[in-house]
Amino acid sequence: MDRCTGDAVAHVTGAKLGRRSLKFMDYGIMAATFVNLETGKAFRVISTEDARDLASHYAPEVLGKYEQQLEAYKRMPDSVLFRVEEVEVPLSEFDLPGPTRRKVSCNRCGQVVRDHREVAVNGDNLCQPCANGAYFKDAREVTWPEMNWAPVSGKQKAAGSKRSEPLSLRVQT
Ligand SMILES: [Zn+2]
Repeated sequence: MDRCTGDAVAHVTGAKLGRRSLKFMDYGIMAATFVNLETGKAFRVISTEDARDLASHYAPEVLGKYEQQLEAYKRMPDSVLFRVEEVEVPLSEFDLPGPTRRKVSCNRCGQVVRDHREVAVNGDNLCQPCANGAYFKDAREVTWPEMNWAPVSGKQKAAGSKRSEPLSLRVQT
């Protein structure tokens, strides 16, 4: 899930998108699955929709909607806050944290596609946007003169060298 729960899970567990230890699935459901990569055991924790409505029952003396929810969630038993399922999570080596295991270039746009996310279409390897469409549309590559700016290293600064000449602009139509 996204929204605040996504950040909460990342913060509490230390799992990160950048390490590939956290994956985002956009189901619109407030749930998180925790997989032990050594044992394969996995548990899916699902937020109940009841907890919010029960806040006044668990913290009747607390005024303010959000203050009451905060206090009530601390008092509620796990069984009111969550349902938990033991689940199987099929994972291939291409889903795991660690370095990229495979790279291919899309035969249409040239973009490198990692870890088997390419799609085979009539013998071509295509990236998913080329094969199936994407969440964006009408992509037009843009450049600007300052795009060629690069930090000057300490040595170059000392020698008084100027910024390198801009490379020629590339515009893809
Ligand atoms: Zn492509």
